[in-house]
Amino acid sequence: MKVAMVSEHASPLATLGGVDAGGQNVHVAALAREIAGQGHEVTVYTRKDSPDLPESVAFGPRLNVVHVPAGPAKEIPKDEIPPWIPEFGKWLHDRWLFDRPDIAHSHFWMSGLATLAAAEELRVPVVHTYHALGNVKRRHQGPADTSPRDRIRAEAGIGHRVDAIIATCRDEVDELIRMGVPRRATHIVPCGVDAGMFNSRVAPLKRPGRHRETRPRLLSVGRLVPRKGVDTTIEALRYLRDAELVIAGGPPSSALHRDPEVTRLRWTAAQAGVGARVRFLGQVGREALPGLMRSASAVVSVPWYEPFGMVALEAMACGVPVVASAVGGQKETVVHGVTGVLVPPRKPLVLARALRKLLDDPVLRTAYGIAGADRAKVRYSWDRIASETLAIYNGVLSSRTLERNAS
Ligand code: UDP
Repeated sequence: MKVAMVSEHASPLATLGGVDAGGQNVHVAALAREIAGQGHEVTVYTRKDSPDLPESVAFGPRLNVVHVPAGPAKEIPKDEIPPWIPEFGKWLHDRWLFDRPDIAHSHFWMSGLATLAAAEELRVPVVHTYHALGNVKRRHQGPADTSPRDRIRAEAGIGHRVDAIIATCRDEVDELIRMGVPRRATHIVPCGVDAGMFNSRVAPLKRPGRHRETRPRLLSVGRLVPRKGVDTTIEALRYLRDAELVIAGGPPSSALHRDPEVTRLRWTAAQAGVGARVRFLGQVGREALPGLMRSASAVVSVPWYEPFGMVALEAMACGVPVVASAVGGQKETVVHGVTGVLVPPRKPLVLARALRKLLDDPVLRTAYGIAGADRAKVRYSWDRIASETLAIYNGVLSSRTLERNAS
């Protein structure tokens, strides 16, 4: 099967941790690689955001990344990309005229629009993954939401026009139904985890410095945006006087001092009197993350809302207990009382109590770690996720064939 994946702002080749580079980049890269690994030909189309990028890059066997020239060849915030989407769609259309995929899989609403613009006339079936929904963002972020005004309406429209929707958790399906998207078009396939890279087999990273093995370490990993709730963890530290908090994500370490969100979080830490126990690492590369996770007593992931939440799953795969907010995909990946603890978002005291219990009980931490690693490997391996995705592609192709034969 020839698969076109469209991920306009989230390139599988990007460095992670910045404001707009996170879970979607990881998801698209791993899914594309795994589908190609199962014998299919996959091309990922993403926006050319640097003049130095070649049109096409081989990313693995039967797998290419194509940089689509749409808009300026430089990084622009994702919320400012919409004016270039028609150009992106036109470019895809012209390409697919002579290089038609059997199926297109779009990621995020802007890719959905570009993909439909190219695919509808050429009768290429489209599967869509939203990754995040505008109305959820609006509900939580209110006036701070910088998404374009048309996003919410566009997302509902995409839901009616595509052949199938892949939601990453049950909460997302409920949202889609509330938006009027037909229930029968939606399927749930969660994100996966690379259990070869994120595993519990290797010894934890040795901790340098005088606090080695003495101070319990809490770890937060992710893009540094307010909705990730890192401030809740900082405030919880006030009640955990023996613990340190290490924060991975944001800009590269050399640019931390210029980052407004880091400044805000440092201020929160200073106000809470915990500044000396909070450390910002900036962006951490994929290869360094598993060791960093294994060096922690617990990974804390307490966003206000979370379409999926790969970090919780990665920590589980590393055999590290997770304390996560009971939102979105985390309600399904983290099994409360088995692989970690679920807490309400934005409640520092409740979070501190859950962490205190965990930090005081090494047997419980080990038990959660073992169960988490097992669950990550058995349920969330990328080969299983790719097979479930391919089953949806095949269902869509069969329906199209039936429709053609009937007409
Ligand atoms: N990540 C990373 N380095 C960093 C910060 C984040 O590799 O410094 C990765 C993290 O391991 C995860 C992804 O970025 O794979 C974030 O995905 P998640 O689903 O947690 O959040 P999203 O970015 O989709 O909101």
